[in-house]
This record gives sequence, structure tokens and C-alpha cells, in this order.
Amino acid sequence: MAEKKRKLVVGWFSFTCSEDSTILFTELLNDHLKEWKKMIEFRHVKVLKSHNRLENLDVAFVEGAISSEKQKEELQRIRDNSKYLVAVGACACSGQPSASRNQFVSEEINFKVFWFLEHFDYSQKVRKLSDFVKVDDEVLGCPMDPDLFLKVLEKYLKICTTEK
Ligand code: SF4
Repeated sequence: MAEKKRKLVVGWFSFTCSEDSTILFTELLNDHLKEWKKMIEFRHVKVLKSHNRLENLDVAFVEGAISSEKQKEELQRIRDNSKYLVAVGACACSGQPSASRNQFVSEEINFKVFWFLEHFDYSQKVRKLSDFVKVDDEVLGCPMDPDLFLKVLEKYLKICTTEK
């Protein structure tokens, strides 16, 4: 039977981080937008559009570490709506460097950190994605390695878009 191709449905999400991988992703659009528009539906990408939908994603690309209960719940919601979840950049893959406050020891720094912990909705520790949900792939780098991202994207284009 002939193979029928459909679009890969993608989401892009950012948690606690500097969003540099998001910047690299938008830079990649300079070279790839024309080709990607034919193959990819960007269903939830806040940096590209204001009306976003979360349901039935093929791949969720998630940047940043998790630093609050609310973020943890949001990450779980993304996982529940995605076939595959890819951690993008060091903060998402390992927690660091966003999680560096976990190691602060000086009393003065601790005082400042405690003030933030008391006044905002932050967890005691900053964590990597895989501490909370299943991660199917990692795009390492700080920020992400764009070539690695393209390889992972290619992999899921092959896996998800060919219906027999
Ligand atoms: S991995 Fe590096 S570049 Fe990416 S959000 Fe974390 S600190 Fe920023």
C-alpha cells in the first residue's frame, strides 16, 4: 500500500531558563521555514503565535528546568498530551545551570534565596525534566546544539508522519 504522509504536530515549551534554545530555534526558521511549513504543524509555539493548542502533539520539545509545583503540573499536562517528549538544552536535560541555586551555601546568598522562596511559588530544589516525566530524547548543549536538534526532528518526522 502507498505511504501517505501527514504533518508532524509539534509543541515548543520553556520553563526556568534563559530561553536561548528558543532563540536558536527561531534562527533555524530563517533557513528551514519554507520546507517545515509543508511538513510540520506548529500547534503550540508561543514564540511564533498567540493562539496555541496543547492536545494531541506528536512531539513536545521542552526547554528549561522545573522550579515550582505549578511548572511540575504543567510539564505533566504536556507529557499527557504528547506521544514523545524531548528535553532541549542542559537545563532541561540535567537541571544545570538553572539548578545552581540548589548548591548555594553562603548565608548571605541563602538569605536572598529564602526571600524569593517565601515570596514566590518556587520549590526548594530546581529539577531536570526526567525527575518528573518520561523523556524520550535529549538535545544536549547550553544552549542546544542546532545540528543535534535537526537530527532529532528528522527522526520524529520519519517515525510519526508515515502512515501505512
Ligand atoms: S541550557 Fe544554557 S542556554 Fe539553555 S536555558 Fe539553560 S542556561 Fe540557558
